Amino acid sequence: MEKLEMEKIVNYCKQYGFVYQGSEIYGGLANTWDYGPLGCRLKNNVKDLWRKRFIQENKNSYEIDADILMHPKVWEASGHTTSFSDPLVDCKNCKSRYRADNLISGYTNLVNPDLMSDEEMIRYIRDNQIQCPKCGKSDFTDIREFNLMFETYRGVVRGDKNGLVYLRPETAQGEFVNFLNVQRTMRAKVPFGIGQIGKSFRNEITPGNFTFRTIEFEQMEHQFFCKEGTDSGFYKFYKEYAMNFCRDLGIDTDKLRYHDHDKLAHYAKEACDIEYLFPMGWGELWGTHNRTNYDLRRHQEYSGVSQEYLDPLDNTKYIPYVIESSVGCDRLTLALLCDSYREEDLGDGTTREVMGFIPALAPYKVAILPLVKKYHSEYAKELKEKLSKYFMCTYDETGSIGKRYRRCDAIGVPYCITVDDETFNQGTVTLRDRDTMEQIVLPVEEIEEYVMERIQF
Ligand code: ATP
Repeated sequence: MEKLEMEKIVNYCKQYGFVYQGSEIYGGLANTWDYGPLGCRLKNNVKDLWRKRFIQENKNSYEIDADILMHPKVWEASGHTTSFSDPLVDCKNCKSRYRADNLISGYTNLVNPDLMSDEEMIRYIRDNQIQCPKCGKSDFTDIREFNLMFETYRGVVRGDKNGLVYLRPETAQGEFVNFLNVQRTMRAKVPFGIGQIGKSFRNEITPGNFTFRTIEFEQMEHQFFCKEGTDSGFYKFYKEYAMNFCRDLGIDTDKLRYHDHDKLAHYAKEACDIEYLFPMGWGELWGTHNRTNYDLRRHQEYSGVSQEYLDPLDNTKYIPYVIESSVGCDRLTLALLCDSYREEDLGDGTTREVMGFIPALAPYKVAILPLVKKYHSEYAKELKEKLSKYFMCTYDETGSIGKRYRRCDAIGVPYCITVDDETFNQGTVTLRDRDTMEQIVLPVEEIEEYVMERIQF
């Protein structure tokens, strides 16, 4: 198959109702995207499966839903007000704006900009005459650190500094500030985890590549609180837990890799990304970080509220270490869209497009198709209504059955059910498997069980 271009995925997503440009009728708002009916189902399924794996099946894990707006001191304690920034340079000639680290990594892989200071980066850019990707000139401003947090104001006076609040740039702080609440109310014993799914906002300098990097996005984060000394074991566990989850979602293992960080954030003891081979190249998908007890220590310092845990096992008091597992829901959904698309040569001069989602992820689990609209549609509609109590179904009565199968393949419906004369004569339907294209005859009363069994995760 020819190399998959991002543009193709963008167009495909629009054509089939996965993702649309945000505010499209007004010419669109750059780097905002709206999920359509199919994309919304897909993303919800991603969230449900994450929830199942990280909360439901994970020993001692609890889910919360914290507010987007938090006390401004939270962001002082976390360090975001002072150091959540990207190194920005402008091309003096065409005024295009770039991240200095991206300019260097786009130019060479012989040096790692993560290990360089701002001064070293701009010297490297100038010494090597790195060119502006847009106009080709090599004339950049000095580096300025650009804070990525969105500011907004509460209260009636616009711009009143006392009313300054931030749209959270990560969901993690909601878990940290609720550590004691959850521990006490759930009578949780360390080690235990707190996870949540929610929106985050970052005023990215270089958003782009479809939903890979946007200014508003959803994160699925899980913080695991444990005792110092056990942290590295749990770090390894969560690194593998995340990778196994990606594989179980059906992502091609050849397109997944670990990237251990050379340069660690000042609070981190260990950090690793899972990267996916997106159409534009390898990109971070998922981060696992050993954050030590930095976050809780800082919140203790800034709030004045002790974050110590009294361990009933040995009566010691300590501030737990945290292993963070953090993934962008939109980025993971994008990886799944890219990974699931395939074009198949059917060997008879025709091809078909397939979204090969695992059944648990598929937006629609089943399509109900009356063979002949005139005779079979009434029953088929009733069947759709009945099965919709158990899983998402779609219904299609227009065009030849072959064309309808193709449309279902293109949106990743794993099972097509055709209602025909035999449904009336024998009480059976024809069930077609998306991947093998094989058809079996199934008694109507067995459909629910057949499908339910196969859509489990
Ligand atoms: P990057 O290096 O790509 O900017 P990051 O290291 O800043 O990412 P984290 O702060 O660790 O990312 O965020 C955790 C996860 O959230 C990332 O692995 C990614 O999946 C997702 N994410 C981060 N920023 C964005 C964004 N602007 N748009 C979409 N998803 C994002």
